[in-house]
Amino acid sequence: MQGNSKHKSNLSEVDGVKQPKTTNKTSINKIKLNRSKQPSVTQFIEEIKKGNIPFLSKAITLIESTNVKHKEKASAIINACLPFANKSIRIGITGVPGVGKSTFIESLGTHLSSKGKKIAVLAIDPSSSVNKGSILGDKTRMEELVKNEHVFIRPSPSGNSLGGVARKTRETIILCEAAGFDTIFIETVGVGQSETVVHSMVDFFLLLKLAGAGDELQGIKRGIIEMADAIVINKADGDNEKAAKLAKAEFTRALHLYPLRADKWQPKVTTCSAFYHKGIDQIWQIIKSYLELTKANNHFELKRIKQNEFWLLETINQQLLEGFYQNETIKPNLKKELDKINKQQTSPFEAAERLLRIRRDK
Ligand code: GDP
Repeated sequence: MQGNSKHKSNLSEVDGVKQPKTTNKTSINKIKLNRSKQPSVTQFIEEIKKGNIPFLSKAITLIESTNVKHKEKASAIINACLPFANKSIRIGITGVPGVGKSTFIESLGTHLSSKGKKIAVLAIDPSSSVNKGSILGDKTRMEELVKNEHVFIRPSPSGNSLGGVARKTRETIILCEAAGFDTIFIETVGVGQSETVVHSMVDFFLLLKLAGAGDELQGIKRGIIEMADAIVINKADGDNEKAAKLAKAEFTRALHLYPLRADKWQPKVTTCSAFYHKGIDQIWQIIKSYLELTKANNHFELKRIKQNEFWLLETINQQLLEGFYQNETIKPNLKKELDKINKQQTSPFEAAERLLRIRRDK
């Protein structure tokens, strides 16, 4: 078993953990949120800008709602928050279940909070709609951070599509930034395309790994190495330390085979023990040197511009698709065309043309 024996596996139930208060001390003197009455958009904005956590949480709930009125309100709040957003550092953390993501975020988060940073932890879990309830961003798994009044933790929104979940998280980032959070962690497990999605909304992407049996590159998802700004081998403690060092050497060799990136950053490989808080400051120094380099050579700004473009096009694509397949004329015609294709009365290409024409002519 990995880690301290007092600590259960992440898959086990955590019984009897005292539920932390959801409000923090800083909000006590601020306007209390009346649960039965919906605040106005102006109230939301004013309170979010003051860092009022209950208001921030409620606004995120509006983002996550499927109710059209809620969505409209959420859009108005997001738009008003935009001028106050964009000022944080967004850090993506990925790795398989059990690698130590929660423990790592807890360790680095506590370290940064002691330096005066305000931290928000968000998560993207595309499987949360399937198993109803995400294990990512779970407050009971970050026991120290959750007690910290400078930290805001929000589990993954649920949703039918990764695109939908991602959009909600992206909008949540804007609100968190407007509320004064300057360091935002976005956690994900590598399910499907979730790593790519997180990569497209963060400044720095960190891959957590465990030391394996020697062949570190085996079984690693294609493309993930190219996305990583740092690879951190966690649980480098006790008997694991030696294997972690070997893994570090292997990843470093592998990374040197990649051509120099446009932003001139050479991805770093390091080891840490999130559990014993070893190597954590070193990782922060790596992130800082990345920020220094990319802010100086403009790639930080450029990446965010590209990400905005990506999300613009992505949203248009999604809405076009949704609009098409949800269209009441398209639905029955799609069935008819499928039928014709199966009876070999038409080709899929001709059928697609006809269906698209219906949409165009409307
Ligand atoms: P996640 O599923 O990736 O979020 O992983 P967790 O943070 O829940 O950690 C899974 C297990 O590994 C827990 O039992 C942790 O206590 C343990 N763990 C996490 N980091 C370390 C570490 O640095 N060293 C050791 N020995 N165990 C660790």
